[in-house]
Amino acid sequence: MSRFLSRRFADLEAYVPGEQPQDMQYVKLNTNESPFPPAPAVREAVNALEIDRLNLYPDPEGRALREALAGHYGVGMENVFLANGSDELLNYFFMAFCDGERGVAYPAVSYGFYPVYASLYRLPAQEIPLREGFRLEPGDYCGIGKNVVIANPNAPTGQTISVEEIEGIVKSNPDYVVMIDEAYIDFGGESCLPLVGKYENLLVCQTFSKFRSLAGGRLGFAIGSPALIGDLDMMKYSTNSYNINRLTMAAAIATIENDEYYVNNSKRIQENRAYTVSELDKLGFETLPSKANFIFTRCRAVDGGTLYRALKARGVLVRHWDKPEIIDWCRVTIGSREQMDIFLEKVREILREVG
Ligand code: PMP
Repeated sequence: MSRFLSRRFADLEAYVPGEQPQDMQYVKLNTNESPFPPAPAVREAVNALEIDRLNLYPDPEGRALREALAGHYGVGMENVFLANGSDELLNYFFMAFCDGERGVAYPAVSYGFYPVYASLYRLPAQEIPLREGFRLEPGDYCGIGKNVVIANPNAPTGQTISVEEIEGIVKSNPDYVVMIDEAYIDFGGESCLPLVGKYENLLVCQTFSKFRSLAGGRLGFAIGSPALIGDLDMMKYSTNSYNINRLTMAAAIATIENDEYYVNNSKRIQENRAYTVSELDKLGFETLPSKANFIFTRCRAVDGGTLYRALKARGVLVRHWDKPEIIDWCRVTIGSREQMDIFLEKVREILREVG
């Protein structure tokens, strides 16, 4: 830290992203990317349409992409906001709606960026503990008198709450914004998007990074009432008006036009998830039920940190946190069948060695 850094940031602890080794020598099951490349049409769209036009700024309103998303989800263009990854969207949510008076509440075990934004904006944040078995109790958020952000499915647990439960939270906090982060909704969960037309205080956040195989393109979006979308727009035009680049916009439109390819990939991931869980069961692991493209699992014979390091030494990257509540556990992204077989083989090898 230099002596010039604003004192406001003296105790800020920045978010630490998962490891992104650039030599690609690992079986990479640590940051919940899709194991599948984008649909072939995405490559064509990016090549043919946009590379020669990179001298020109992109459309700051992202009209063509917002129209495609609005058509796909059956909402109006005025209900759609685009961001450079859902991380940027979360930034705008915290920036626009949360302050010293109107704080924010989120689960104590959830996406690690929420506390970073709370700290960046110096917000009174309420971290609500999960219940037994990492269960999120919707009642804990009803009438809470703060803005709320909940990942559904939650990360890193993979557990979900129902649309009815979300409606209860939204309805009971009419004077606060409820952001439902649906980064992992397309792997067997049920989206709360149908509630958007009914509640002006609900924002649903999704990403192209997981189900749509576009983590490298950086694209997230929110769907909500036109008034909330207008507020997010104000944040965007006050910080970075051209937040989505041309190549990503062209890629994303082609992605939406090829939905079947992605739905099919999601089916394969869900099959691989069931397969991996049943193989881990046989090895004495305890795995939480997951509706996401990852599982949260622990092994009775080897603690989480040891398992993470032993897997890494064998070329398989998973995610582990030193946080006390989850220190025994590892989060494992569900990849292709081949990747999961390598992961399982390495786990068996490690168990043979320790036991
Ligand atoms: N929300 C959750 C719950 C996440 O786990 C992640 C990333 N892993 C994000 C949002 C951000 O994703 P992105 O910025 O790639 O859209």
